[in-house]
Amino acid sequence: MSAPTSPGCASTDALPAWHRQTLDCVHCGLCLEACPTYGVLGTETDSPRGRLYLMRAFAEGRVDDPEAIRPHLDRCLDCRACETACPSGVRYGAILETVREELRASPTRTRTLRMKLASAWLRHVVAHVGRLRWFFRLARFAEWIGLRRLARAMRILPPEVDALLPRVPSAAERRPLPALIAAQGERRGRVAFFAGCVMESVFGEINRKTVELLASNGFEVVVPQGQRCCGALLVHDGQREPARALAAANVAAFANCEVVITNSAGCGAMLREYGELLGTAAADEFAHRCLDITAFLAREGLRETPARCEARVAYDAPCHLCHAQGVRTQPAELLKQVPGLSLVPHATSEDCCGSAGIYNLLQPSLAAAIGRRKADALATGGAELVATGNPGCMMQIAACLRAAGTPLRVVHPVELLLPPPKR
Ligand code: SF4
Ligand code: SF4
Repeated sequence: MSAPTSPGCASTDALPAWHRQTLDCVHCGLCLEACPTYGVLGTETDSPRGRLYLMRAFAEGRVDDPEAIRPHLDRCLDCRACETACPSGVRYGAILETVREELRASPTRTRTLRMKLASAWLRHVVAHVGRLRWFFRLARFAEWIGLRRLARAMRILPPEVDALLPRVPSAAERRPLPALIAAQGERRGRVAFFAGCVMESVFGEINRKTVELLASNGFEVVVPQGQRCCGALLVHDGQREPARALAAANVAAFANCEVVITNSAGCGAMLREYGELLGTAAADEFAHRCLDITAFLAREGLRETPARCEARVAYDAPCHLCHAQGVRTQPAELLKQVPGLSLVPHATSEDCCGSAGIYNLLQPSLAAAIGRRKADALATGGAELVATGNPGCMMQIAACLRAAGTPLRVVHPVELLLPPPKR
């Protein structure tokens, strides 16, 4: 880093617009305890305050080589726990995502092969619904003929990746939702459902249960067929331009829908930030129509009593639901209405599990250390089930619980809210 320049002396015209946001940080340090990477590594440069300082220095031209700060920003989960803790309202996530985009353009950029493959996979496969469906068809076939076992035996598939990935669901489980699901009983309204790319391909059955839950509670559900991936994983990776194209397609696909429901916290947080990503009134208006399924059902009220579930359940809050969307109490409010269910206290519910999109694939050892803390807290809390509403968190927590040798099972909250089947 070169000698510091007083920001007061620098021409503000030369500074990027986001620089002003870094000045909101008053260096109080109240965010440090909330930061999972600071918790594990204990270094200032891997804390929110330290990273903000590095990003401000970058904006002011005091960073000679961006590669010097990149590892600290790469190690950030973008979990935004620091935003919840910050009394000054620093918009850390927005700053980080902008800087990541700028760092991608740096000519001295060096990235590991794994990072390059992940970026290419996100841009050229995940962002295209047809290609993603083909990817999962091939992955299912490869698993069926034993290629995954072979890759595991030959150590081609890294053990931490193998441990994380669930089996590829069958074609029947992965099939897309129909365009319209009729309301059951007296109709209370009409909602649109955002299916999500990972949710459709890996947790298709949970998508089906989500629309069934809405329909059984009196809502007609439309599933616009022109919808695309939300773009969250691309934004985390600093690829905001292709994410903008996806966002524009989604705004158009849901143009006539009054309420847009998500069951994936990561997608929901992204959709609710389309206004900032696209900077248009239509995107801003769309963002205000998006709601997580738990926030929607808590607001509207459950008409049907959920099926009985005699289990002790810990609710684990996805970061992009509690920190990014401010949805905190609603999932627990709904779970308390499940007959027989006992909600057990979970002190680290709002701590990150280490998933953070594909962070656990790119930073496996740090993600595993963060995940171990989560698994330890859950294993000693007396729960039999863990409920959490984000696909990445479901996979990461399940993998960490397996690694810890605990029998806890991970479910999505909607699985516990369905009414009993009608005879
Ligand atoms: S987003 Fe999460 S990991 Fe990153 S600095 Fe904030 S609290 Fe730490
Ligand atoms: S809590 Fe907010 S103001 Fe305080 S150091 Fe952290 S980011 Fe800066």
